[in-house]
Amino acid sequence: MMRGDTKYYDTLGVSPDASDADIKKAYRKLAMQYHPDKNPDAGDKFKEISHAYETLSDPESRETYDRYGEDGPSGGFGFGGGMSQEEMFAQMFGGGGFFGMDDGFGGGPGGSRRPRSRRGEDISHNLNVTLEDLYNGKTTKLSLEKNVICGLCHGKGGKAGAVKKCTTCEGRGVKMVVRQIGPGMMQQMQVTCNTCDGEGQTIREKDRCKKCKGNKVVNEKKVMEIFIEKGMRHGEKIPMKGEADQQPGVDTGDVILVLNQKTHALFERSGADLSCKITISLVEALCGFSKILLTHLDGRGIHVEQPAGSVIKPGEVKKISGEGMPHFKRPIDKGDLYITFEVEFPKDGWATAASLKSLETLLPNRGPAPMEPELVDHCTLEEGDMEDYGAQTHTGNAYDSDDDDDAHGHGGPGVQCAQS
Ligand SMILES: [Zn+2]
Ligand SMILES: [Zn+2]
Repeated sequence: MMRGDTKYYDTLGVSPDASDADIKKAYRKLAMQYHPDKNPDAGDKFKEISHAYETLSDPESRETYDRYGEDGPSGGFGFGGGMSQEEMFAQMFGGGGFFGMDDGFGGGPGGSRRPRSRRGEDISHNLNVTLEDLYNGKTTKLSLEKNVICGLCHGKGGKAGAVKKCTTCEGRGVKMVVRQIGPGMMQQMQVTCNTCDGEGQTIREKDRCKKCKGNKVVNEKKVMEIFIEKGMRHGEKIPMKGEADQQPGVDTGDVILVLNQKTHALFERSGADLSCKITISLVEALCGFSKILLTHLDGRGIHVEQPAGSVIKPGEVKKISGEGMPHFKRPIDKGDLYITFEVEFPKDGWATAASLKSLETLLPNRGPAPMEPELVDHCTLEEGDMEDYGAQTHTGNAYDSDDDDDAHGHGGPGVQCAQS
């Protein structure tokens, strides 16, 4: 026997001399292990096992393989013979009976199970909400268009008996085509049947259901009530079970609403906490206050009493416990509210020289005693912007050759001030 290629034997983990029974046993074991329903991450492994078994289980094709290798005498071993991998698998295991054993599907012990049904796609929708909605909770209505099973034909597409098995694919929804992949190399591949669009059945024009025109589903508008619960978050998903498009023979998927919170004018949220910036006047910062500092998300005024004598500095952060967002599912518990204070200072010229003098007597003393260096330059404070900081290049500024000859004559390089 010529032995060019043992790949299929290797795939099944048997020797090229293995008996038919050994090959069958090996396939059975591996197919169970790598079936996509059991082991979805195994990639093409199941396909390879099935393909190897398909070739080796038939005495004629096994002999051809032994003699000519994988490419066969005149092209590849396609998935010929009209049997799909799943069919081959089902034949061996008697209709997929093993699935029910340990994956949670199917009935009780010993019960037969229905073949696993296909599941329709989930559909995601954004649902715009405000921070107020998430704080207070809200019931809202959403109008949704979706396909539902036609009520007139109950999803059959026509009267009883009008549905005929597709003759092109014999009801399989797929057909085999032979494709040339190289000189003398043919490959068989499986494609969706275009006569029936993969449905495996056709309905004559005149027998089609009047309501759905043979489509089995009709478009319907449905208004759904959505409950936004207190404490829900931006990006949170609310699944509406089984509300996606219906399709005969398919478990309907879910509509998944994704909360999209609009930016709030005052508050920012992090987890269950809220934060905001509040501007107070200089007199409030220095002398205290008793006032409604802000309006909360439920419309309540938040009154704060800051005693005279406690000073709030610009940028200082204070916290109000229990005034953050409600926790999801236990809305009585709330996070905290963090307030960053901005202090609004008076404008230029807000007071006369005389009143400033008397104000100064109230304020703490000026800073530490002045330093006494030997040389002093008198400078002016101009408007500055940190955006400009570092914008001047080294070569553009550092050594201005005119500097030594200017009118004052005594400014050193780069010195912008008048010396005294
Ligand atoms: Zn119909
Ligand atoms: Zn067909």
